[in-house]
Amino acid sequence: MRESVDILVSGGGVAGLAAAAAFGSAGYSVICVDPAPPITTGTAPGADLRTTAFLQPSIPVLTAAGLWQRLEPHAMPLQVMRIVDAGGAEPVARITHDFDASDVSAQPFGWNLPNWLLRREFVARLDELPNVDFRPGIAFSRMLTREAEALVTLSDGAQIRARMVVAADGRHSPVRKALGIPAHTTRYGQKALAFAVTHAEPHGNVSTEVHRSGGPFTLVPLPDHQGKPCSAVVWMETGPEIERLRALPRDAFEAEMNTRSCGLFGWLEQASALTVWPIITQHAERMTGQRTALMAEAAHVVPPIGAQGLNMSLGDLTALIDLSRPETIGTPAMLQAYERRRMPEIRLRLAGVDALNRASMIESRPLRDARAAALHALYSLAPVRKGLMQLGIGMR
Ligand SMILES: Cc1cc2nc3c(=O)[nH]c(=O)nc-3n(C[C@H](O)[C@H](O)[C@H](O)COP(=O)(O)OP(=O)(O)OC[C@H]3O[C@@H](n4cnc5c(N)ncnc54)[C@H](O)[C@@H]3O)c2cc1C
Repeated sequence: MRESVDILVSGGGVAGLAAAAAFGSAGYSVICVDPAPPITTGTAPGADLRTTAFLQPSIPVLTAAGLWQRLEPHAMPLQVMRIVDAGGAEPVARITHDFDASDVSAQPFGWNLPNWLLRREFVARLDELPNVDFRPGIAFSRMLTREAEALVTLSDGAQIRARMVVAADGRHSPVRKALGIPAHTTRYGQKALAFAVTHAEPHGNVSTEVHRSGGPFTLVPLPDHQGKPCSAVVWMETGPEIERLRALPRDAFEAEMNTRSCGLFGWLEQASALTVWPIITQHAERMTGQRTALMAEAAHVVPPIGAQGLNMSLGDLTALIDLSRPETIGTPAMLQAYERRRMPEIRLRLAGVDALNRASMIESRPLRDARAAALHALYSLAPVRKGLMQLGIGMR
């Protein structure tokens, strides 16, 4: 028998779970499927040990979805973004610039949370919503779209008639492939290590990016761990270098990590397993198909710089919720409006993050010196500095 639903969300990653909660909280009937059941503790094998810094514009959609209320008690505010240049002959901090949120806002830039905790709280929220049916262990298989609906077949053979399909099924999106929408990918030969550290000195709510070569080494504040100050680290480098670092014994790894962090926050101790993430930029040629909206990594992937990835995804979700009306959900007019609203901003942010990543990868010394000089010049002009901060947060 065919079931009917307003929204079928393909993908129960962080973005898909947020979409299911947002549409469910807005009163729509929702089915959300994902072949991989969410891992909701930080110590379980396969746990997502990345963290997400939610920027200010992401908070309203999370609140309306009943999610922010659950996240706020665990969130660590980010008050200062510190950029450190360590591109000289020796790996030492030679220039430090602080971007303080108080220059542009009465609030912090954002709030940082572990991804495994997001999954735990998002799944708990879905349990509260009787109109949301979350089906872990079940995949989107194929679909047939018509003017009035999409007919989706799931991996257990169930057939679902949906007024709109929301593709939040990641960078290899099966829904995007089913619609034949091409994706354009830029590879940098780069990977990221994501893990947690404890450190001797408190982080003081400062998020720090250390630039030398290969990509940034970023420390983002987390709540204390076993009584010690704690931060999440994203360490980007060439693929072979990341594989070499990952294979090191713990003592040798910690020594290299402390050289790379330039001693900031004192001695860093590894406090979690290491996870490895490939780094790409990617965008889908279109964000919509008949009765279908692509969102999050199904539509766009950026390197983890400036906390743009999931925040862009929540920008997609904000637009989808704003444009949805019970009578017109999934219609061509609604989907075209979604595409028009999101594409320009996504193109701008993809280009900006791509440029920042290429600058942070630079190997040659003279170019690293030029990079430091350019950063200093931008920072020294107060209106430019404030404009960059507002753009980075998404306040404009
Ligand atoms: C190291 C690192 C650090 C980051 N830090 C930040 C940050 O601070 N701030 C920020 O905003 N962003 C950050 N990002 C980006 C952010 O983590 C991603 O945007 C986000 O996790 C991706 O979410 P997603 O739900 O789109 O994709 P995914 O997490 O990949 O979820 C896709 C889901 O689709 C499911 N799926 C696959 N096939 C099917 C199918 N056939 N049917 C149904 N479901 C299917 C998968 O099982 C998966 O659960 C970071 C990224 C990296 C790599």
